[in-house]
Amino acid sequence: MKGETRKQKREKQKEINFFGEFIRIKNHFFKDINSRLKGVKDKRHQSYIEYTPDIILFSMIMKNITSIESMNQMTVEFNSEKCINNVSKVLGYEDLDELPHHDTINDFLKKLNPCEIEKIRKYMIKELFKKRCLEDYRLLDKYWTIAVDATGIVSFSDRHCEHCLKREYKNKETGEVENTVYFHYVLEAKLVVGDMVFSIDTEFIENEKNYEKQDCELKAFKRLAARLKKNYKRLPICVLGDSLYAVDPVFKLCKEYNWQYILTFKEGRTKSIWSEFEGLKGLENNNNSKGCTWVNEITYKDNLVNILEAKLVENGVEKEFTFITNITIKEKNADKILYAGRSRWKIENEGFNNQKNIKNNIEHLCCKDYNAMKNHYLLVQIADILRQLFECGYELIRSLRASIKEISSRILESFRRDSLTPEDIANSNKRMQIRCL
Ligand SMILES: [Zn+2]
Repeated sequence: MKGETRKQKREKQKEINFFGEFIRIKNHFFKDINSRLKGVKDKRHQSYIEYTPDIILFSMIMKNITSIESMNQMTVEFNSEKCINNVSKVLGYEDLDELPHHDTINDFLKKLNPCEIEKIRKYMIKELFKKRCLEDYRLLDKYWTIAVDATGIVSFSDRHCEHCLKREYKNKETGEVENTVYFHYVLEAKLVVGDMVFSIDTEFIENEKNYEKQDCELKAFKRLAARLKKNYKRLPICVLGDSLYAVDPVFKLCKEYNWQYILTFKEGRTKSIWSEFEGLKGLENNNNSKGCTWVNEITYKDNLVNILEAKLVENGVEKEFTFITNITIKEKNADKILYAGRSRWKIENEGFNNQKNIKNNIEHLCCKDYNAMKNHYLLVQIADILRQLFECGYELIRSLRASIKEISSRILESFRRDSLTPEDIANSNKRMQIRCL
């Protein structure tokens, strides 16, 4: 695309029916998604239902894909004949008169059990594995790298619900509590595949009623890991995490589940490992030409751990990384382990765009209902999988080199302007230009 002028880029974009192409991607990868959206357990009083769950959930996916800022604005933007007609066609209805109002959507999300959306995500991730289109991104041709990281969703100065986490800020001199913050945190597990990061599991870090000790990231990790193991029994997983995870219980858990791990390692986290590494690295002299040094089989409690250190200069800046892993480090895999360990930053980077959508959805929840908040969060993750497949997995769109914002607004324009063709809606793969991702 080098040498392409901005005018040429504009011309090229004009020719593309972004919404139609987006629907093709959705149908190509997830041919049963419509029936899954429709089939969620609906707890609403059935005699008052105007919109089936697929209409509501698909509207939310469109809101998140098009990065519309508020629920209110969504109702305004989607209020057009074309949008209504497009949604009807995608979901196979003939007689939709309107799309659901945001209050209707929020009422639905307040009652919906979040595990219903989790099931849809599980279906999507399993489809991606089944299609074998991500195989090139396995670490050492074997492991699927899954990065875990916790992020804040919302915070409040007053207690918002019974599950809020609480943090007190004390005056250093008097010890008196000066400020109390209530907040919600979530632990995300993301499958890292090339430039894409797909949410594979979510665990909300939350307090139980009448709790004695607050919930925390490592406790949440145990719950998340158990579910991942249950849902993806034989998947060869390599966990990527920060130094918080470099502790005995995590090593043990990975051993029990037959998982690998590559975790950021800091001196303060486990001092005995650190000093052993420092002592042995000069003696063993395991180096490669790219600045990696390593020591295998350091004993720590019942575990044998391996340490990889790398000193690199990138763009004139010296950088240092240390990772702890249970993968045996060799000259030919040291770079790959280093690369995988470093790829965890993607989850933070990617998270930023996500978080903006989540915050927008939640801020406009009039009653700040916790259950609806969880559902909004999960729907953003689902939309994000679709968006990334559209952006990165699709040669036509990738060649535009457009920003996320640009693509979002193109899809919105197209959703409000273009009609879908029968080919867009059909489950045919023939005209797809999907390249192996
Ligand atoms: Zn709360």
